[in-house]
Amino acid sequence: MLVRQAFRYRLYPSGEQRHQLAVQFGHARHAYNWALACRQEHYRETGVALSFYDLKRAVTALKSEPDHLWLKEADSQVLQAKVADLEKAYKGFFTHRTDFPRFKTKKDRQSIRYPQRFRFKDNRIYLPKVGWVRAAFHREMVGTPKNVTVSKTAASNYYASVQCERELDIPVHTGPAVGVDVGLKDLATLSTGEKIPHPTHLRKAEKRLVQLQRSYSRKARGSKNREKARVLVARQHEHVANCRRDTLHKLSDRLTRENSVIRMENLNIRGMLKNHALAKGIADSGWATLVSFCQYKAMWRGGVVEQIDRFYPSTKTCHVCAYKNAALTLKDREWTCPQCGTVHDRDVNAARVILAAPTVAPRNRPAVSRPAAPSRSRTLPPERRNVKPVERPSDAKVVGRSAGLDEAGSPAPCKAG
Ligand SMILES: [Zn+2]
Repeated sequence: MLVRQAFRYRLYPSGEQRHQLAVQFGHARHAYNWALACRQEHYRETGVALSFYDLKRAVTALKSEPDHLWLKEADSQVLQAKVADLEKAYKGFFTHRTDFPRFKTKKDRQSIRYPQRFRFKDNRIYLPKVGWVRAAFHREMVGTPKNVTVSKTAASNYYASVQCERELDIPVHTGPAVGVDVGLKDLATLSTGEKIPHPTHLRKAEKRLVQLQRSYSRKARGSKNREKARVLVARQHEHVANCRRDTLHKLSDRLTRENSVIRMENLNIRGMLKNHALAKGIADSGWATLVSFCQYKAMWRGGVVEQIDRFYPSTKTCHVCAYKNAALTLKDREWTCPQCGTVHDRDVNAARVILAAPTVAPRNRPAVSRPAAPSRSRTLPPERRNVKPVERPSDAKVVGRSAGLDEAGSPAPCKAG
């Protein structure tokens, strides 16, 4: 099977290169926003969506217009890649995976993609219009490099993500099946009875974050000190995100290595985040990321991730005799089954029920149901009303996003105990 894997390396551009990158980021962002505005306007006037190829041509033509000659400073393929990103953003919206595409701002994470003409040598990477940038290749790249995405985070760190393609022989996985119950107290409880404690990265970093944010808010607007304080806040946030990703990579790696079948609940994370009391803990858990990591890793190792219906009463059912304990509340960490007398640990029991429950999604496919019809009660951006949902692509990359997808936009009952 042909698989794509990204390898991310830290970049250390020089002062001049930073300046050049800023030009590329800025021009690419302008092209994206211009294309988005252009598409919206065209739809408003004609009622027909502007095609991807028309937009590509329009951006090329834009560079020759007198007031846009400066766009020629940007690498042409970088601009075209941004138009492709916009197309992807629209597709995500039409398939109900993402919100309507938004205009990009200077304050967001900046990124550009080079589909071609990049090169590698020793500890450097060549980027068109920028030059040979120093990079830390901390791990070996496997496969043929297909494109390079250069990004700058809010904390002003630069990264190059190299997407490589390679032929992979999927092995036969002989491991057992495991049920996984994700939660707030323990990040994951396995049907084997093992509990993986929640690392609570955010909670640990919060004290420092509060200090930094306070210091930031005290600085005068537009001052240099305010900018310095902003970078410190952003760096702390980035640190938390890195820790979280590290934990999830290690856990998903272990789960997929040891088990051929991983069964999890298909959680409605978007809906659950609306519960403010739990939102912080849920966001700090990264359940959706865990599911997506498990999905592609399992696939590469010959395993599979199966999801069970989010409304399946996994917590309230006894895994021994299937008795439903409707009286169970969020506070009960332990309960005794009135029918068979088994003493249950709440989470271990849930994980065992998940292991035995019927699945909702076919193997290795996104666990989304068909796109729901746009409801009339909600105010929708103009394009959404008439255009039919586009066929959902079924490559592995898409799988992760689906975990947080809310089918009808309604919050599901929260099951975070
Ligand atoms: Zn029982």
